[in-house]
Amino acid sequence: MKIKEERTFVLVKPDGVRKGLIGEIIKRFEQRDMKIVALEMFTPTRAMIDQHYPKDKAWVTRLGEKTLNTFTKYGISAKKEYGTDDPAKIGPQVRTWLVDFMVSAPLVKMVVQGVHAVDMVRKIAGPTMPYLADMGTIRGDYSNDSPAIANLEKRPVYNLVHASETPEEAKHEIAHWFGKDAKIVSYKRFGVDE
Ligand code: ADP
Ligand code: MG
Repeated sequence: MKIKEERTFVLVKPDGVRKGLIGEIIKRFEQRDMKIVALEMFTPTRAMIDQHYPKDKAWVTRLGEKTLNTFTKYGISAKKEYGTDDPAKIGPQVRTWLVDFMVSAPLVKMVVQGVHAVDMVRKIAGPTMPYLADMGTIRGDYSNDSPAIANLEKRPVYNLVHASETPEEAKHEIAHWFGKDAKIVSYKRFGVDE
């Protein structure tokens, strides 16, 4: 592998699958010289999804903070809607909606490899909140969702894809979804690897 060549993990979420965007999402990674080295469509179990998303307080609280940022921006009162403006209390609720949503349709899982793959794939996917994601990103081009609607409808933000945020997270997620002896293929991309 080249210097900074990495592997990252991607899931096409239920909204991506149900909007018929599997091909479009894969295309966007491939057109930026990312190489698909493992790929499968499958129906997840609740336990596998529950283990996929972190349970530690910092991560769960961050979900609540994302809600509060949007609520503050649009003058929505978290206290009025939820009876609390504590992100540590809102976060677990968001996590539950997220797990429910992720088991609502088949998913597509893949391992994507390339130079700076973790950051590149996040850049191509766009930031978590589609209403803030730039045009040209997957989340910015195919969704306009935000916690302002999602949380009031008691559901997670629909943003089409999951992508690992760090190389450590990628390693952990690849092992979780493809097993320790993940069947990852090897081939050379024209114009990229040779
Ligand atoms: P990302 O998917 O960009 O890595 P996170 O890891 O922070 O984002 O969150 C996991 C998923 O949880 C997001 O992709 C989104 O679907 C959902 N989510 C995050 N924060 C919120 C929120 N405040 N309200 C509703 N859904 C959220
Ligand atoms: Mg994340």
